[in-house]
Amino acid sequence: MAGELLVTRDAGMTREVAVGFSVRFGGKEPVVIAGPCSVESEAQIIESARAVRAAGASMLRGGAFKPRTSPYSFQGLGQEGLRLLAKAREETGLPVVTEVLDPADLPLVAEHADMLQIGARNMQNYSLLRQAARAGRPVLLKRGPGATLEEWLHAAEYLLAEGNEGVVLCERGIRSFETYTRYTLDLPSALAAKQRTHLPVIADPSHGTGRRELVAPMSRASLAAGLDGLMLEVHPSPDSALSDAAQTLSTEEFQGLMASLRIAPGTDDLPSLRAAVDEVDEAILDLLWRRMELSGRIGAAKRQLGLAVHQAEREVAILGRLAAQASQALAPESLARIWEAILGASRAVQADGRAAGESA
Ligand code: PEP
Ligand code: MN
Repeated sequence: MAGELLVTRDAGMTREVAVGFSVRFGGKEPVVIAGPCSVESEAQIIESARAVRAAGASMLRGGAFKPRTSPYSFQGLGQEGLRLLAKAREETGLPVVTEVLDPADLPLVAEHADMLQIGARNMQNYSLLRQAARAGRPVLLKRGPGATLEEWLHAAEYLLAEGNEGVVLCERGIRSFETYTRYTLDLPSALAAKQRTHLPVIADPSHGTGRRELVAPMSRASLAAGLDGLMLEVHPSPDSALSDAAQTLSTEEFQGLMASLRIAPGTDDLPSLRAAVDEVDEAILDLLWRRMELSGRIGAAKRQLGLAVHQAEREVAILGRLAAQASQALAPESLARIWEAILGASRAVQADGRAAGESA
């Protein structure tokens, strides 16, 4: 009876989930969580935290207790990993999310982390869900690779039913017949989860593809589709990562991805800020190109109707509307000067029928 679930209340009206003082899932800005698959050493996690913060990440990830397919694979640093995560938070100010595997570890994990992660393999570990919900921290609930949308939402219901409203869903790929990718990132179900619930939903394209070269485009796709954020695996030397090397981005690759997502760097370092401004300029140029293309077609439409290119009242209306919307960061005189130039360029294009593909 989906209609009676807490999780489906106010479906589609995302409620914000705060983590620490600085992070809000489900707000205007996407939240990017980044860091290594596993915490490996103090130097590795501190360097990772500094690099992802500088690139604009707003939270740090890192596994201390690792759910590995083989019991002989690296299992994580455990309690020492938690201590190192807390140290990385102290150094960078980034809130930390880390996975809890065992209810017995909950007090310790909740003490060191700002958000608890329930991993894909534990999505239906109901005893863990119930106890994690009561640990006094927001919870990131990953979708099980074999779980349907309904099962995922019901797992979230366990958390909400315990009175924990700080729940964020994370789509991390499901098992499909395809083996080229590690899992199949199921964006339609992630979007359905957003439409069917009030919970923020993020994507994890690292586990969702298992392939480094697919992580950036799937990150862009996830945010373009309207999800609330990303979880990404990033390591200072990804090829030597102790877990999930093949899907892990280098810090440079992560920086490039963040620039392409137009997420501002979290640093005052001049080259990074300039790289971010260059990205913004390119976006502005692209929008101007689209405006001029439309202007050319407007010019043709005006000619057909026998109207003059210059329509003063329309320009006054445009400027008035924009002035009402402009943020305080842009002074009214600056806004007017910029749009006078844009409108002037548009008039020139309209007067020149060739821009509309006509012969003059
Ligand atoms: C992880 O994010 O560290 C992890 C193990 O992911 P998942 O539970 O999605 O496999
Ligand atoms: Mn991993």
